Amino acid sequence: NRPLGYVGRFAPSPSGPLHDGSLAAAMASYLDARAHAGKWLLRIEDIDVPRTVAGADRVIMDQLQALGMHWDSPPTWQSRRLDRYQAVFDRLLQQGQAYGCACTRRQLGAGAYPGTCSHGLAPGQRPRAWRVRVPQGVVHFDDRWLGPQCQDVAAQVGDFIIRRADGLWAYQFVVVIDDGDQGVTDVVRGADLLDSTARQQVLAGLLGQRAPRVMHVPLVLDESGHKLSKQNHAAPLDSRNALATLEKAWMHLGFRPLPPIADVAGFWAQALPRWAVRFNI
Ligand code: GLU
Repeated sequence: NRPLGYVGRFAPSPSGPLHDGSLAAAMASYLDARAHAGKWLLRIEDIDVPRTVAGADRVIMDQLQALGMHWDSPPTWQSRRLDRYQAVFDRLLQQGQAYGCACTRRQLGAGAYPGTCSHGLAPGQRPRAWRVRVPQGVVHFDDRWLGPQCQDVAAQVGDFIIRRADGLWAYQFVVVIDDGDQGVTDVVRGADLLDSTARQQVLAGLLGQRAPRVMHVPLVLDESGHKLSKQNHAAPLDSRNALATLEKAWMHLGFRPLPPIADVAGFWAQALPRWAVRFNI
């Protein structure tokens, strides 16, 4: 089941520098692409404007280069693709697959969206956000790290937001358009996004795309068991000590220590065949 013409990607949100957690995800996606002799793309997911930090994209690119992770095509920025997202959105609207929703967060509470606005808005109501119509049925997929997964998106999530009340495109929407446009065959990322996968597969189906294979790698947790994240002010990587930084991420992915290594190139040369063996590539 090796995909012909493997295309992988790393898709950081530039809300700060990479930390130990995002590096583990980047490393896994890089190793998987190289082990498949595939392409590895870098996509800057700067769609969430309030969370985007000016210059963080450069810092991330410098960190990746310093660690010997080189992308194969020029990077893309989601902020430069707004026309494309609008066009896909317009098509979904025309086809009746998306609709405006006037519900406020307070009205909704937790749980699946009950479909309140799916039959149209009452006179005088104005859409705040826009939702996609989720078809009935259970989504099944095989995660290459975690095994078989399933989610009934219609029942558990309901029609979900593709354009937010603040006017911004939702992550779920643009990530699927980009993966489709870039021909991504394989998504390797942190386990915090496992829960998004079924929604993304639903969207891919509606857009007539083939959903990529997925692998969700373990999150790096801090001492109190929380996910390392920029919001939790995780320390940026130690780029002065590239080799130690790489080895730490490698151990985090559950591998045994590598034999003594001289430099960054040596790290990748040792790590690649071990990744390939571990995942039968
Ligand atoms: N931009 C997302 C993040 O940094 C990752 C998107 C993805 O890999 O699908 O959390």
